[in-house]
Amino acid sequence: MRIGLGFDAHRFAGGRPLVLGGVDIPCPRGLEGHSDADVLIHAIMDALLGGAGLGDIGRHFPDTDPAYRGISSLVLLGRVKELLRERGFAPVNLDSVIIAQKPRVSPYIPAMEEAVARALDMPPGCVNVKATTTEGMGFTGREEGISAAAVALLEIFRV
Ligand code: MG
Repeated sequence: MRIGLGFDAHRFAGGRPLVLGGVDIPCPRGLEGHSDADVLIHAIMDALLGGAGLGDIGRHFPDTDPAYRGISSLVLLGRVKELLRERGFAPVNLDSVIIAQKPRVSPYIPAMEEAVARALDMPPGCVNVKATTTEGMGFTGREEGISAAAVALLEIFRV
């Protein structure tokens, strides 16, 4: 077994859709970023890559590469799944938390869990997403952006 940790944060930006866990969430503002800025999936990808000892998403999908402009992070998550598989790792379970003062994301959590599990070929129930506010404190509390953290447990199926 191997464990990995991921964290990410993006600032709010007008004129962009808000995508979290592969789900479009109604919100007057989205998040700034080179890809679709899906902060939850970025944290999950870093947890998966970290557990496998494969660095981070910046190494595999650099934001200087025009190929990744506006790309769905679910597509990148599928590539992370392949990278792990090639090296003999399979995700066992994922846990994660979205840290946002606004909008209220809890109604969309089941759809996020389903989208992430589907992208990774994981059974439902092995992907968990939670959400919290910071009770008005810090950059998320001031509604400047959204952050997310994730942990992933990986199993080695080939040595
Ligand atoms: Mg990011």
